[in-house]
Amino acid sequence: MVECIFCKIVNGEISTLKVYEDSLNIAFLDVNPSSLGHTIIIPKKHYQKLEEMPENEAKELFLVIFKLAKIVPKIVETTDYNIGINDGKLAGQEIPHLQFHIIPRFEGDKGLPIQSLVKIEVKREDLPQLAEKIKKEIENSAIFKEGKKVKSEDIKSEEESEDKKPKKSAERDWQEFNFEKQDKAPDFSDARKGY
Ligand SMILES: [Zn+2]
Repeated sequence: MVECIFCKIVNGEISTLKVYEDSLNIAFLDVNPSSLGHTIIIPKKHYQKLEEMPENEAKELFLVIFKLAKIVPKIVETTDYNIGINDGKLAGQEIPHLQFHIIPRFEGDKGLPIQSLVKIEVKREDLPQLAEKIKKEIENSAIFKEGKKVKSEDIKSEEESEDKKPKKSAERDWQEFNFEKQDKAPDFSDARKGY
């Protein structure tokens, strides 16, 4: 017996306003929308969290989200939207079946950006060490058979670009942060050969 509401939607036991379906995924309008056009995209198989998915199925799911993001906002006559996932209870996941949300945004909708969901005090000086730990884990992990290098040069050239316009605070934060102290990101070219 399937108890998961989204699995029941997949099985047709509960009707829904389905807008898309393929062999792996379906998308439907949220019954309790945050915004006009609020759309939920789920894999048909029951996974609670993103990391439970096989990589090939995750790719297909992301492709559906990518394509729907071109269509849904347009239909509700806006250009902007948030894409979100509540992955786990601490992140606010209510139904334990992996789900992506596309939430169209409108002028004066009083909504906030996704990074305003949580604000934990983090010391900026601790960040380089954290970045280093993540890079090391990526280097040692089998997950990244094929990695993308973080180009330090790209970050530097953005930092150096002179812009006379007043900066918003988030832009200023990025500019003030000294990325040059970072070591090089891991190089996956060898791993790629064997892939
Ligand atoms: Zn389910």
